[in-house]
Amino acid sequence: MSHSEPNCLDMARGQLLKAAEKLALPQEVCEILSQPMRVVRVSFPVEMDDGRIRVFIGYRSQHNNALGPFKGGIRFHPQVTMEEVIALSMWMTFKCAVVGLPYGGGKGGVVCDPRELSPGELERLSRGYIRAIAPFIGPHKDIPAPDVYTNPQIMAWMMDEFSRLKGYNAFGVITGKPLSLGGSLGRKEATARGCFITIREMAKALGLPLKGARVAIQGFGNAGSIVAKLLAGEGASVIAVVDSKGGAYNPEGLDPWKLAEYKASTGTVGGFPHSKAIDSQQLLTLDCDILIPAALENQITGVIASEVKARIIAEAANGPTTLEADRVLQQKGVKVIPDILANAGGVTVSYFEWVQNNTGHYWPEEEVNCRLEQVMVRAFRETYEMHLEQGVDMRMAAYMVALRRLYEAMRLRGWLGTEER
Ligand code: NAD
Repeated sequence: MSHSEPNCLDMARGQLLKAAEKLALPQEVCEILSQPMRVVRVSFPVEMDDGRIRVFIGYRSQHNNALGPFKGGIRFHPQVTMEEVIALSMWMTFKCAVVGLPYGGGKGGVVCDPRELSPGELERLSRGYIRAIAPFIGPHKDIPAPDVYTNPQIMAWMMDEFSRLKGYNAFGVITGKPLSLGGSLGRKEATARGCFITIREMAKALGLPLKGARVAIQGFGNAGSIVAKLLAGEGASVIAVVDSKGGAYNPEGLDPWKLAEYKASTGTVGGFPHSKAIDSQQLLTLDCDILIPAALENQITGVIASEVKARIIAEAANGPTTLEADRVLQQKGVKVIPDILANAGGVTVSYFEWVQNNTGHYWPEEEVNCRLEQVMVRAFRETYEMHLEQGVDMRMAAYMVALRRLYEAMRLRGWLGTEER
């Protein structure tokens, strides 16, 4: 993910205002939600391998916890800023609310370049950050997770550090942990599986059979490659894929399993046997039924949107469609399954991980997938109904579903004042 997210903060605020207006909510609702409830800025010393001490800066933004404890990832990146972390925490509030998780939104970051750090330095940095924010997080307060350049090993160190401070094993303080330390089965596939479910439901609603549907995917990493396999498993034809180094196109269909093996050995999908080269722009405007941006933000611009031929766009990536493109796509009648819904499968299974940690009862993978299915189908239907009833696009509908829940929670908690005065 790159660093145009403050732009996303404006976008999220814009959506919030429009959704609140459409739902005729009191102005206080927007005032509360347009800023985080708390932002913690920390600096902490870390001993480098050569014995020097370096001081790092980190943040944790806690946007809103009306629906439950704050939830959101931690990124390690040289360009982390407070504004970006705030924007992403706000997004998490809406993402958790649209799928109905009992969570609020949070996000954290440390300004560092993890590629320059040795494993020992990375471990000390991870532990130092957790010590610094420990008073503000906890299994019932704020539950971090992995994000850009953080992974299950880092989550394990962080959980261990927090547990040492508290004097007991607090597995539920963080999600995205390795399986042997309370991680959940099905987490790796969860984002793609959730995305697949929303695509399947949208195709059903439009009367488009998945069997034979032509799919184009930008990005062939965790989300892109797994959603390709799930769709191909239903008889869809993945005709084009691009990654950061190349692309592969075959109108007769590509085999996603072979493609994943090929990318694992060569580092790119480009040059895959029996395929033609294709670049991102060509892929996004290709004649296909389903388009899945699963790489970076701001990929579908207004100009590209006017050339899009797909009937469905499923935003596996966060923020892949610009505001201008959104308007163009709506006019053309393209159904956009918005990011806060399409990629919410990841945080949903993070929630399942936390439930398993808190109960000490671990579920088989079929149970995880079955419950994910229920959550995603319900969220899709609520959003789709809102879209039809209110005559708004799917993105606005998703914000409205989320906002309705947030409003109800804040009202009942008394955050909006006393009603009977
Ligand atoms: P990943 O790093 O596994 O894969 C990213 C893919 O995008 C890679 O194939 C990479 O080559 C490709 N890519 C990068 N730059 C590109 C470019 N300029 N043109 C074309 N392809 C390019 O990441 P991921 O986990 O699959 O995440 C993808 C997107 O989904 C991100 O926006 C991420 O924020 C979002 N997302 C992921 C999760 C998750 O659980 N993995 C959850 C929510 C949202």
